[in-house]
Amino acid sequence: MPAAVVTTERLGTVMRLTMNRPEARNAQSTELILALDDAMRDAAADDDVRVVILAAAGPSFSAGHDLKPVVGQAKEDAWRKLRRTPEGRLRHERELYVEKCLAIYHLPKPVIAQVQGHCVAAGLMLAAMCDLIVAADDAVFSNPVLRMTGAGVELLVEPWELGLRKAKEFLWTGDAIDAREAWRLGLVNRVVPRRRLAAETLALAERIALVPPVTASLVKESLNQTAALMGKEHAWRYHFMVHQFMHGTKTAQDALRARRKTGSVRAMVAERDRTFARAGRKPR
Ligand code: ZN
Repeated sequence: MPAAVVTTERLGTVMRLTMNRPEARNAQSTELILALDDAMRDAAADDDVRVVILAAAGPSFSAGHDLKPVVGQAKEDAWRKLRRTPEGRLRHERELYVEKCLAIYHLPKPVIAQVQGHCVAAGLMLAAMCDLIVAADDAVFSNPVLRMTGAGVELLVEPWELGLRKAKEFLWTGDAIDAREAWRLGLVNRVVPRRRLAAETLALAERIALVPPVTASLVKESLNQTAALMGKEHAWRYHFMVHQFMHGTKTAQDALRARRKTGSVRAMVAERDRTFARAGRKPR
């Protein structure tokens, strides 16, 4: 039997969900997104679970959306086939990316992301859906999709996570932010040694699990409502349509055709980063 793409562990009142596609750096395939959604729903429904940890197996948290079907390295499933028309693409991204992400954001329990290694594009979007982020000292955050014409990912989390000015630099350059800088910017709550990551995240979860569940849940709702009143969710809705429009532009469609010709995700990423590498890294 193939290994489950998401594994679950009960650790007292804490439920740890682990994305389990380490060989693909936990690239978010349709299967992984659906399995994670199921696991989150189960955790939400279980009254004995007070806090949820979203972890990832292997060296990296998540490489983002699974791009293998884009370059022909993997078969297109029924969801990916929808992307052949703009209306199908809208449906695919709304139902599988936006709604599944928002379900985590609004989960009626505290959710803590446990992040090591690379956390890229939709990986960052996923981590940003969690209430807290504990990062290993080797964590690296990036969203290089503007290098390949994409208008960010589906939910524009950056201005809320990094501040407006840093968000612009981060998105336009595609340059990565290391764990220390992520902590300084407020993207992550704490940075811990890689070998202590699981233990420190669990210890934080166990402390939060001491808060009565109804209190934790209501305060989460109130904090999210504060952000909503600041325009967070309206801005997300606006951006999602900008993102859809960008997918349909000639610029993006030409780039997509070129990308398909590269034949592998590795070659596609190398091609994507070539021009930016030539332009030089940012000064430190
Ligand atoms: Zn998209």
